[in-house]
Amino acid sequence: MQTKFFTVSFGGATESLPYYVFEGSQKGIDLVVTAGMHGNEVNGMVLAREFVRWMTENDIESKMKGRVTVFPVLNTSGFGDFSRYVTHDNMDLNRQFGKTESDSFSTNLANQLSLNFFAKADALIDLHDAGNGAMLVPHCRIHKDDEINCISCSREMSKVFGTEVVYEREGHRNMMAVALRNLYNTPVVTVEIGGDQDVFKDLFEVGMRGLKNYLKYANIIEGDVELPKTQYYCEDRYSRKADAGIIVKWHKKLGDFVQAGESLGKFYYPLTQDI
Ligand SMILES: [Zn+2]
Repeated sequence: MQTKFFTVSFGGATESLPYYVFEGSQKGIDLVVTAGMHGNEVNGMVLAREFVRWMTENDIESKMKGRVTVFPVLNTSGFGDFSRYVTHDNMDLNRQFGKTESDSFSTNLANQLSLNFFAKADALIDLHDAGNGAMLVPHCRIHKDDEINCISCSREMSKVFGTEVVYEREGHRNMMAVALRNLYNTPVVTVEIGGDQDVFKDLFEVGMRGLKNYLKYANIIEGDVELPKTQYYCEDRYSRKADAGIIVKWHKKLGDFVQAGESLGKFYYPLTQDI
């Protein structure tokens, strides 16, 4: 394994991104794993680091085919501020891919990463979470027209990653997943696990299993893919933020199956009510 740094400069700002390269002696696919696109999403970063540790401690390089490159933190400045956005221009890095002009630090970073790493990759797994104040049940996100454009489309990648939920949606054209598919035909699966600046062991293990599953599916390592009994494909999602301070006592756990009309929890107003 080689530890390297990719340095990007724009407008007087410079960031050095650490990345790790595992290279097998036999030919195989070129996989890139990224995390920390949003600087406040720690689950992906910890998952990427743990994945590097697992690859290193188990000497995966001596028995693998192809190449695996891991970027644990793409948005290094945002992580320093614990912010979703890039510090140098307050932009969302995941809306800057596929732009022709490199007229900000973020677009320059997106373009440099694309040209030097992502365009050449056969597949990319991008790890996210819900950020501050929210939790997401582990799921993969894919895009509605992937089947038309991808050689090995992200729908198949989401299936083998093995989250119980797969969310299929329209994407913004400057999201990394959409831009890489449109420009370079690189299939990208976006993985969302947990959130709220904490790492939960059970959710985390879904991510580790998913990364190992993909290595097996893509013949980077040998072994059988471990899938859940059922995978649900969602075409829509709904969220609602509280209008005011309130406490919720949940009746359901994250990831529970619920019917329409069923109560998810009860609100308590702590100034006047017991919990
Ligand atoms: Zn994110």
